Amino acid sequence: MSETLQNETTGSASTTNGARALTHFINGKPIDGTSGRFGDVFNPALGSVSARVPLASVAEVDAAVAAARAAFPAWSETAPIKRARVLFKFKELLDRHHDELAELITREHGKVFSDAKGEVMRGIEIVEFACGIPNLLKTDFTDQIGGGIDNWNLRQPLGVVAGITPFNFPMMVPCWMFPVAIACGNTFVLKPSERDPSCSNRLAELLKEAGLPDGVFNVVHGDKVAVDALLVHPEVSALSFVGSTPIAEYIYTEGTKHGKRVQALGGAKNHLVVMPDADLDQAVDALIGAAYGSAGERCMAISVAVAVGHIADELIERLTPRVKSLKILNGMESAAEMGPLVTATHREKVVGYIDAGIEAGAKLVVDGRGHQVAGHEKGFFLGGTLFDDVSTDMKIYREEIFGPVLCVVRVPDFASAVELINANEFANGVSLFTSDGGVARAFSRQIEIGMVGINVPIPVPMAWHSFGGWKKSLFGDHHAYGEEGVRFYTRYKSIMQRWPDSIAKGAEFTMPVAK
Ligand code: NAD
Repeated sequence: MSETLQNETTGSASTTNGARALTHFINGKPIDGTSGRFGDVFNPALGSVSARVPLASVAEVDAAVAAARAAFPAWSETAPIKRARVLFKFKELLDRHHDELAELITREHGKVFSDAKGEVMRGIEIVEFACGIPNLLKTDFTDQIGGGIDNWNLRQPLGVVAGITPFNFPMMVPCWMFPVAIACGNTFVLKPSERDPSCSNRLAELLKEAGLPDGVFNVVHGDKVAVDALLVHPEVSALSFVGSTPIAEYIYTEGTKHGKRVQALGGAKNHLVVMPDADLDQAVDALIGAAYGSAGERCMAISVAVAVGHIADELIERLTPRVKSLKILNGMESAAEMGPLVTATHREKVVGYIDAGIEAGAKLVVDGRGHQVAGHEKGFFLGGTLFDDVSTDMKIYREEIFGPVLCVVRVPDFASAVELINANEFANGVSLFTSDGGVARAFSRQIEIGMVGINVPIPVPMAWHSFGGWKKSLFGDHHAYGEEGVRFYTRYKSIMQRWPDSIAKGAEFTMPVAK
């Protein structure tokens, strides 16, 4: 760190070559990395390194967990309304810094600024939900459940809980976790994606400014070393994970083996079914936004259009010019509809899928490979890509591409569409475009997917409902945020109470029953 100038207000430091050196945020303070390991953070539109992120050692993870453990007794004893007041203040600060947070996201993730603002808003909404914690923690009470006995239940915090988050929503996905967790009285350690880590540090600073006691929210940056340290740490009671399916499965298996409560949300392959009676203008708009928005790097992106019956030809005809004319620019430019991919490595992976699709015999209608953006030749850009005649045995159908690639699969009827989707191992989101209420109802009931949209392309539940897929898209019993989040971050306790003057004389050897 000898080459750096510490910046006290942003928790980061500038290196002499212009790339910021990020810090961890532990016990209310920015802490320099001491492991000697760092990762590069890119500005994907420019293709240049903008920051260096420290990759934590086990000792640094231990320090974050110790800070969270030390803060737990006082925070869990703080009245829920006082915890909520900190979150109200935090919400005000998020409103005030909305644009600043969105800009941090665009500069490290690449998504367009208006989309980043939408992400910040969806994060703020979870904070607004968590502000209702005094009401959310109200429980059931039964008076006189037995002779002189009352029975009620409590929902108590778990202790130190950790969150491990993906690159594609550096603000919203952490907000699926920590506002609810800390509102419930837990203390939190966040291990964000090492690819766009700056937003997490800013959230930590704003929480401190809102009056959150030191140690209640900590950020430790890192890779597998940090994640593995959290997975086995005896003081971590629960883990929330969002990321790809192989890692989600690993987190669930290892975390539960070490006695932790785990919710691990994984990858996706989301279908949008276009029925012959759908409003095609709406369906095409929906597909363009949901397949190419955020360059397809959304767990709820639509990557497969299922064209039912005769609609397929017209659908392809209408999609083609729209895909070709997508405005692909630096996400900070107001005209941008789609930005770059997050890293050069990820772009190469997506290009590999396009190559595999061609090799497997899918019809390449629009080819996004080799797309250049003037003035941004080093940026990680890829054009929108459209495949027709994709079949379910192809790799581009079976695997999550996580890029701006839409595959069209043709099926003869509604029943085949449902059968095809239900056979897929992912089950995060799905959408149906139709003008028939009966078909919509049948689809909602028959489809084996966690989140369903009817004439809604990306049915991400609002903060007052809960988010989660089925099958390989979620490991664990609880969906994220909403009331499911409150359940995940609290333990249920039943209390039965009787006072001395009502206690019967003598021991009771039979199972108590109501008298
Ligand atoms: P990822 O699985 O590569 O990384 C997620 C987190 O796990 C990161 O913090 C990363 O540091 C950590 N990690 C990576 N490899 C690890 C390993 N071997 N051991 C331990 N930890 C490891 O995911 P990503 O590329 O950052 O994000 C994209 C993926 O996330 C996509 O698959 C997308 O569908 C998924 N996602 C799912 C949801 C959902 O709600 N289901 C939401 C957003 C993103």
